[in-house]
Amino acid sequence: MPPTYRAPAAYRQPHLVPLALAVTLITLLVLAVAWVTSRAAIPSPSSGAIPVTVTGSPRADRQLYLPSLYTQNEIRPPTALVKVATPAVTATTMASLVPSATPTATMTATATDTLPPTQTVTPSATVTPWPTPDSLLRQVRVPILMYHHIAVPPPDADAIERDLSVTPADFEAQLQWLAQNGYTSISLYDLVYALAQGKPLPPRPVILTFDDGYRDAYENAFPLLQKYGFKGTFFVITEFIDQNYPGYLAWSEVDVMNSAGMDIEPHTKTHPDLRGRDHDFLIWQILGSAQTVEAHIGHFPRFFAYPSGRYDAAVLQVVQEIGLWGAVTTQQGTIHTSDGLYELKRVRIRNSDTLDSFALKLGWNF
Ligand SMILES: [Zn+2]
Repeated sequence: MPPTYRAPAAYRQPHLVPLALAVTLITLLVLAVAWVTSRAAIPSPSSGAIPVTVTGSPRADRQLYLPSLYTQNEIRPPTALVKVATPAVTATTMASLVPSATPTATMTATATDTLPPTQTVTPSATVTPWPTPDSLLRQVRVPILMYHHIAVPPPDADAIERDLSVTPADFEAQLQWLAQNGYTSISLYDLVYALAQGKPLPPRPVILTFDDGYRDAYENAFPLLQKYGFKGTFFVITEFIDQNYPGYLAWSEVDVMNSAGMDIEPHTKTHPDLRGRDHDFLIWQILGSAQTVEAHIGHFPRFFAYPSGRYDAAVLQVVQEIGLWGAVTTQQGTIHTSDGLYELKRVRIRNSDTLDSFALKLGWNF
């Protein structure tokens, strides 16, 4: 019987050799492709903006870009500030000089707080010439008027729309009344500087705000404001403009108003109820709309209006962490304090208001 010879395993199944080689080659190829792809995904260091992937929002696939304040140093101080020279004593310093733990704590929102883990670029150290609060808790009385439509309500308008519509004739009468009674329109920027640093305000300051960015803001409110030399603050819903919704402003009209000295500020992307929403959704709605406004007006806006006046603790956190200076509510009142910049009260002007009721509201002392 011849001795039994057992060939090595590979020789017993010779077809496995090319198969093993092929598998090795394919594995190497896949690894190489993966490496190249991962290299390509790293943003170029020369890019100014920091891409942030937002998940969980209706636009989960969308990349937002953090505002330029994190990457550039070009944020200018509000020009309106320098103009406020009238040495009026409207900034009532509260009885006790409270060492301000609160203002400084809330206002030094560092860039790192807001950057999701996907961040790959170190934000620049210089953030913004935000009016660094001194150590005083201040209180000022400034009526912030809240308008929506400046228009004759259409015949088929429901009760809510009618209530939100001040006719151009009534609006002009109100502006005339303000002018005759010595009121000066200021901006929310002036208000924050008065509260945070004690910058003087004119004797009878008033702020005129217009919510939602309706077309009649441009057609009716804007020309009347110009006629009487008043400034307006317009809170726009950016997606409604982007989508050319009928009845809403166009960006070209926003540009004209901005160039004429009106303030354009964000009022979310789509006007949702912001309560109970996750952080990504809030970033998309609030930072996203602010960045859209920034893209059109050339600087990052600093104020926000809560849709329908609805907000919660998470909303308050986001408006502060993205670098806004303040936000207006629909709570009624005229007294503002330096520790309440993100819950500014307003004065709702209604369709049913007469000049008498208008004058009474301007005199509110709460
Ligand atoms: Zn609104």
